[in-house]
Amino acid sequence: MTPLIAAANGAGPGTPTLILLGLLAAVGYLIHCVIWPYRACRKCGGAGRFRSPSGRAWRYCNRCTGRGAQLRIGRRIWTRIKNNANHTRKHR
Ligand SMILES: [Zn+2]
Repeated sequence: MTPLIAAANGAGPGTPTLILLGLLAAVGYLIHCVIWPYRACRKCGGAGRFRSPSGRAWRYCNRCTGRGAQLRIGRRIWTRIKNNANHTRKHR
């Protein structure tokens, strides 16, 4: 065990520290999703469209409707948290 982790753990067991670290990672992931809300569409790989075998024709991807981007799960969670906060504020 490194001195830094030992100091963070203190005298007690390491479980609360693990929970704290998990929480920190979750918050960091949420912040990351706020800054970078989109990821490349899994179906078209971010291209937004599929080319026909001839190469002259193409069609939009059904999944992302041609945008090539998909909203990340963390961003959806963030939007839900924000909406909840607005909701409670309106009723107070
Ligand atoms: Zn797509």
